[in-house]
Amino acid sequence: MKRILIKGCSILTMCIKEQPFIGDILIEDERIAKITPSIEEAADRVLNGGGMVAMPGLINAHNHASMSLLRAFSDDLRLMDWLDKKMLPAEARMTKEDIYFGTMLGTAEMIASGTTAFADMYVHMDAVAQAVVDSGMRASLTRGLVFLEDDGGRRMTEALDLIDNWTGAGDGRITTMLGPHAPYTCPPQPLAEVIDLARKRRIPVHIHLAETREEIEKIRMKYNQTPTEYLHEAGLFQDNHVLLAHAVHLTGTDVKLLRGMKGGVSHNPVSNLKLGCGIAPVTDMIANGVTVGMGTDGAGSATTLDMFAEIKAATWMQKLEHGNPTVLPAEQVLRMATIESAKLLGIEKEVGTLEEGKRADLILLDLNKPHLQPVHNLHALVAYSATGADVDTTIVNGQILMHRRQLLTMSWEEIRRESAERAARLVEGL
Ligand SMILES: [Zn+2]
Repeated sequence: MKRILIKGCSILTMCIKEQPFIGDILIEDERIAKITPSIEEAADRVLNGGGMVAMPGLINAHNHASMSLLRAFSDDLRLMDWLDKKMLPAEARMTKEDIYFGTMLGTAEMIASGTTAFADMYVHMDAVAQAVVDSGMRASLTRGLVFLEDDGGRRMTEALDLIDNWTGAGDGRITTMLGPHAPYTCPPQPLAEVIDLARKRRIPVHIHLAETREEIEKIRMKYNQTPTEYLHEAGLFQDNHVLLAHAVHLTGTDVKLLRGMKGGVSHNPVSNLKLGCGIAPVTDMIANGVTVGMGTDGAGSATTLDMFAEIKAATWMQKLEHGNPTVLPAEQVLRMATIESAKLLGIEKEVGTLEEGKRADLILLDLNKPHLQPVHNLHALVAYSATGADVDTTIVNGQILMHRRQLLTMSWEEIRRESAERAARLVEGL
């Protein structure tokens, strides 16, 4: 058995109403064996947690990691110009190897900014899954399904191959979902088939919903419904575990349709802000019992995969929207980025809080910095002042992926070189 002992850190368990305390954490193989004020036991490795905060790793509930190759390539454009003139032509050139290295770049950034698990929807998911195995991260993977033209069932075959071949891989770090892309790319017939299959095989569903006003208009023109009504009528929320990305433009009636759904919503505030999409009704959804977690969306739009930026944006947006600084307080927004996101991925029994018996997915934040002193309220300090660059150590499934900011499961030199070369080829002439 391999044992890692972390000594003398400030511990934020993110369990409800549990106050921070100073203590030790013992990890045995992939699990947290003990969390108490003092542990005096032998270990293979002892990490000094003095001046550090230990907390659950952040969970990015909506990403397209390999789009990291297109970071800061086309910004400050209208959504449809950004998509049609820049993203889609560049993505059309992506090979399986590009997607592997793009995902490795994404995982490098996530590990370096304290994210331990993510949900991803893309193509060539074999390459994404291999990058997850190699990086040591945890992920819920989905092959995006667009049904605008007949591809002879190719995408669906790939989606099922991903589920059959990769679920449970990487010592159980990989889980999978079915991914009908969005209401406007999934007509009623194929959507109904996917929902039926998901229900029969008990596979969770990951789908974009109501990201833009254009989407609302499109669905209104076609079906005289809101996108949420469209998915509701298709039966998506009856029995399936569903991960909804965005949910920006919901009516009061839409929010009520989501009541009691299994799964919930990934709120992606930085991408929503940057593309000028709007402000999701986060507090309204929470008040109606909908689980709301948090994600970045791809770096092609969000530009950064730093979840600490999302934490700030999420709470700022709600405070501004409601003209009320008391909404979405620090502790609650940190829970959204950890345990609530874990619920969206269906892994909340294993990760998302620091508790004995759970998987050891945790991070150490270094407080020995001007912007993180003095320490009054640890939740507020971490939510409002910390950034991803303050993460010193990242551990997933009991394996140290980064320590003292050194990535340990990959060659950063190789990732940097491959990313630069491949990214240059993808955008040439665009
Ligand atoms: Zn997305």
